[in-house]
Amino acid sequence: MGVSKTILGSMQRGSWIRKMFEEGMRLKEEFGPENVFDFSLGNPDLPPPQQFKDILREEAAREAPLLHCYMPNAGHAGARDNVARYYRENYDVPVEGRDIIMTSGAGGALNVVLKALLDENDEVVVLAPYFVEYGFYVSNHARGSARMVVVQTDDKFLPDPDRLALALTPNTKVVIINSPNNPTGVVYPPATLDALASVLEDASAKFGHPIYLISDEPYREILFDGLTYPGPMMHYANTIICTSHSKDLSLAGERIGHIAINPRAEDRDNLAAACSFCNRTLGFVNANSLMQRVVARLHNASVDIGIYQRRRDLLCKALKEMGFEFEWPQGAFYVFPKTPMADDNEFCSFMRQYRVIVVPGAGFNRPGHFRISYAVPDQTIQNSLEFFNKAAQELGL
Ligand code: PLP
Repeated sequence: MGVSKTILGSMQRGSWIRKMFEEGMRLKEEFGPENVFDFSLGNPDLPPPQQFKDILREEAAREAPLLHCYMPNAGHAGARDNVARYYRENYDVPVEGRDIIMTSGAGGALNVVLKALLDENDEVVVLAPYFVEYGFYVSNHARGSARMVVVQTDDKFLPDPDRLALALTPNTKVVIINSPNNPTGVVYPPATLDALASVLEDASAKFGHPIYLISDEPYREILFDGLTYPGPMMHYANTIICTSHSKDLSLAGERIGHIAINPRAEDRDNLAAACSFCNRTLGFVNANSLMQRVVARLHNASVDIGIYQRRRDLLCKALKEMGFEFEWPQGAFYVFPKTPMADDNEFCSFMRQYRVIVVPGAGFNRPGHFRISYAVPDQTIQNSLEFFNKAAQELGL
């Protein structure tokens, strides 16, 4: 028995998304892929934009000395400057290249920032429902009795400032938010960000140290109905953005993202240096070099967001008519309805009889709900509707 008991325990608890995905694979083998409606994974299925392919070809053909060698751990200066320019142009914040660290996706970025920030006994607050990997990321870097503290959002899945204020302690070092949100599709309005900022400012003053707000934003370009999301930098000084092009450019497998530190953040330069150091010592060393050069030239490109919006409309309008209750998604590619039976696990098993694979809310620390990822072809959604309808009727919605 060589494997760490902690890791064995984590593996056994596993992820509901994985479990459902594996169940979907089994059903596909048995019944054929066209007869299984697998809504389990948030794996973007749209192709990257044509521009990506053109620029990738150009960058791959480029000849220059040391092009494929080690570089500063924070990334190519040109790529960092470009990301900074994107923030200045789109968000009206004076971010500079020195505030940017190129990373291996948003997951890499989150691990780097947590590693850079957490000391013994520090607490990290997350707002449920949340991306399940947060728990593992926090435990990767938790020392002593450091831990993750879960605060439930309100019934619209927005942060509840009073509940948050109650959960903050002298040990709170970090709060993580995620908007547009996985699993709910909710986007935080500016008033929510203001309320969050004021709770965090009060608590930072009371406890005599900054509480950093990590804003996990891999879905920030996937917004519907003309909505914009300027994010929390303008609202709260101690903001650190972790994001990637996994979803907006459909490059999840290429592992490219970045950290952006608010220029108003306390300890700005130390923070950037610490993130750069942790990028190195976690073994990432630096983000993929070729991808850094490619995405640096793609800052205003994205996959066709209209397709996700069309799928949302197709799915969500039908679910509403059937009587399912949920918050209308404004971004990302998820919807998180209430389950028509009390036990969300039971409901997901119930749906499997129709070969519809959805993930129980318990997997996101919000039981009584289920997540549908509509990063799937329109046809899959269309063909699944009769089964959602059957379920709605059988369960008396
Ligand atoms: N954060 C959230 C909320 C996500 O849903 C995901 C991926 O699904 C990630 C972070 C990780 O993204 P990346 O592939 O860029 O590491």
